[in-house]
Amino acid sequence: MNFSDLGLSEKVLAAVRSAGYEKPTPIQEQAIPHVLARRDVLGVAQTGTGKTASFTLPMLSLLETGRARARMPRTLILEPTRELAAQVEQSFVVYGQNHRLTVSLLIGGVSFADQLKKLDRGADVLIATPGRLLDHFERGKLLLTGVDTFVVDEADRMLDMGFIPDIERICKLLPPTRQTVFFSATMPKEIQHLADQFLRNPVKVEVAPAASTAKTITQRLISSGSKPWDKRAVLRSLIDNAKDLKNAIIFCNRKRDVATVCRSLTKHGYSAGALHGDMDQTSRMATLDGFKKNEVTLLVASDVAARGLDIPTVSHVFNFDLPTHAEDYVHRIGRTGRAGREGTAISIATKADRKYIDAIEALTGDTIEWIGAIDFSSSSSEGDDEERGNSRKPSRRGRGKQRSDAPKNTEARKQDTPKQEERRQEKAPAPRRKEQPAPTPAPVSAPVSAADYGDPSPRPVPSRNEASRNNRGRSKDRGERQVIGMGDHVPAFLLLPIRPTKEKEQKNGTSD
Ligand code: ADP
Ligand code: MG
Repeated sequence: MNFSDLGLSEKVLAAVRSAGYEKPTPIQEQAIPHVLARRDVLGVAQTGTGKTASFTLPMLSLLETGRARARMPRTLILEPTRELAAQVEQSFVVYGQNHRLTVSLLIGGVSFADQLKKLDRGADVLIATPGRLLDHFERGKLLLTGVDTFVVDEADRMLDMGFIPDIERICKLLPPTRQTVFFSATMPKEIQHLADQFLRNPVKVEVAPAASTAKTITQRLISSGSKPWDKRAVLRSLIDNAKDLKNAIIFCNRKRDVATVCRSLTKHGYSAGALHGDMDQTSRMATLDGFKKNEVTLLVASDVAARGLDIPTVSHVFNFDLPTHAEDYVHRIGRTGRAGREGTAISIATKADRKYIDAIEALTGDTIEWIGAIDFSSSSSEGDDEERGNSRKPSRRGRGKQRSDAPKNTEARKQDTPKQEERRQEKAPAPRRKEQPAPTPAPVSAPVSAADYGDPSPRPVPSRNEASRNNRGRSKDRGERQVIGMGDHVPAFLLLPIRPTKEKEQKNGTSD
């Protein structure tokens, strides 16, 4: 099938031709005619298979008739992260090159003023993260009653607990007659139920079972001791031994670790930048830009980069930590192997990760091969000292020692003695070590005003204790914006030693 068989307008077809697309992808082939027919659609397809064009192309065709009125957008697209929203805006630039449409981007972390100007002009397309959208609404700058098409990208993420109140609110502001379109690569059953409540008699287009991974991604696991320095040594070794590594995204579960790993890599001479939700938006965009332009080779990121980001040339994804939710694994590794390209995803696994691996394999239906023998033993305490706040440069000896704990299993590793290996590391391939100092990661100690996901910008969003987060249920664990009590803030009085009351003393029979 060709694009011209899908019912798209001439202007859109011309843009598709100049984008260099020859054939529609399966999700485009199946979803576009239904979106054009103004049906509600639930589209599920693997990462990197062109879901964005599945909704943007028919939207552009539909928008050719009619015009926008001030503060009353005609269409609305919701995205879970600011970066992703900005990327979809870019898609409208590419696909909408023959149209004269106003596309407005409402994301947190940037000034309201410019956003207002565009809204005032009348937006044909409004792309937003939920927090900032509601902020504009609350300020009376926006009316959503003119929205004909409502798109929720990364739909399962958007219907996850953290976002759902916002999505419900937004839906109530939209006209009931609107068309609703959901897209995602994963769609857990419990979320699917929820999705059905928002869609009216939808056409379900599922080109591969939900959560199946793109076949172009080679997946591997590698064992490591559980200490952070064990994992960092394994990571360095993976980078050093990776075949055809052009660049890589390294995912950590916690923002704190994003900063630590990035700092450690930089200290070891790698070109690395950090991306997580506690960074200000300018730094977030700057890091991402540097990575896209190949100025930064390794992007150390939290799950803020897991969803949707389309950087076609990402050759490797490394999971420094295995994600605690299997769906996140699918999205993280989906940052490579996009649009039919080859990609490699390697996850560092410690002994405690077995349950996560089982869940991932159950969800994706893939069995992930291990690199070499499985060995969870830890190295000595001679790490790279990040954890201990020691700025001492890692000694040769220290590094040699780490190497012996790093994967013993790659081809090179099997042949090399630690000394040879060390020498080989010194002559490591070009892209990873750059002469100039790499950008320093943004501090993680900044108060959390905007979460990793979405952007409830000026609304107070206290931070939360990330360590305890992992012990809680899915909903609390996920959003990085749901806050329990006072979050990270511990009032001084809570730190005072506890003196048992008389009553307690008697009960416990102790007075200590
Ligand atoms: P998804 O949302 O499914 O993860 P994207 O919409 O981000 O994927 O698209 C992934 C990549 O595929 C993009 O770089 C896009 O330019 C490219 N792409 C989309 N449609 C086609 C097509 N029909 N032919 C070739 N490349 C395409
Ligand atoms: Mg996408």
